[in-house]
Amino acid sequence: MPAKLSKLEERALKVLMKYEKEGILQSELWHKLGVTSREGSRIGIKLEKKGFVKRVKAFANDRWTRRLVPLISQMDISSLDGVPCPSCAFEQLCGPKSEHHFNQCVLIEEWLLKTPQPEKSEHPLNQAAADK
Ligand code: SF4
Repeated sequence: MPAKLSKLEERALKVLMKYEKEGILQSELWHKLGVTSREGSRIGIKLEKKGFVKRVKAFANDRWTRRLVPLISQMDISSLDGVPCPSCAFEQLCGPKSEHHFNQCVLIEEWLLKTPQPEKSEHPLNQAAADK
């Protein structure tokens, strides 16, 4: 079960996701969130305990501090644009044991046919085959 986040922790994660690769000094995060160093420090510790960030020792501005490096990354879900499931009346019932299932779903089939497919050479499976 995913860890519950407070509103402030959610805001902190949103800021942190902009620094996915290199992370951000915790003092910069406090500044961006408009919280005290004490509150900011607690947020960093809580996010680390919940597995969202790694607190790495760093030397900056003539003193030792912590850099918060996100351990999660943003997903690109643009390929799901227009998928019919969120507005489907059968969404709660749909599944492998139900009579409504994506394997036989006309709406999914229509959506797939309307969705532009990547060029064959751009498809990751074709790339892997070409690399062999
Ligand atoms: S797969 Fe089809 S039936 Fe199932 S939720 Fe999506 S649109 Fe609805």
